[in-house]
Amino acid sequence: MSDLIKKEGFDYAFDSSACSTCQGRCCTGESGYIYVTKEEIEKISQLLNLDIKEFVAKYLFKTDHEYSIKEKMHNDSYECMFYDRASNGCTIYDVRPLQCRTFPFWSYFKTRVDELKLECPGIIND
Ligand code: SF4
Ligand code: SF4
Repeated sequence: MSDLIKKEGFDYAFDSSACSTCQGRCCTGESGYIYVTKEEIEKISQLLNLDIKEFVAKYLFKTDHEYSIKEKMHNDSYECMFYDRASNGCTIYDVRPLQCRTFPFWSYFKTRVDELKLECPGIIND
């Protein structure tokens, strides 16, 4: 069965089988924002059995207008607090933010496929 995913309006396809060997490059590397909405905060708090205040204090920081997930350091690399190296996966996968669910099909990358390919080995030009 093909693991190839395409999305209308994007000139590239994504081979999700690449995730098993890439070691979470979209969850690690350079520092970045991982935005979470109010609804997502509620769902993740529930999954972690934390009340919302406790969850926000432990895992999030506030940007100008939104909340973003904190990062931890591994050697010289930043990584999302919820990335687990041992399993090479996301520990909140079922309730991960929309930003993570929609990667690598972000509008930003429509005209920046070369930049995306440097980050994600699953990108295939159509
Ligand atoms: S960078 Fe691409 S291949 Fe690697 S885990 Fe993320 S989506 Fe999968
Ligand atoms: S929430 Fe999960 S999928 Fe999103 S960046 Fe963190 S580890 Fe990766």
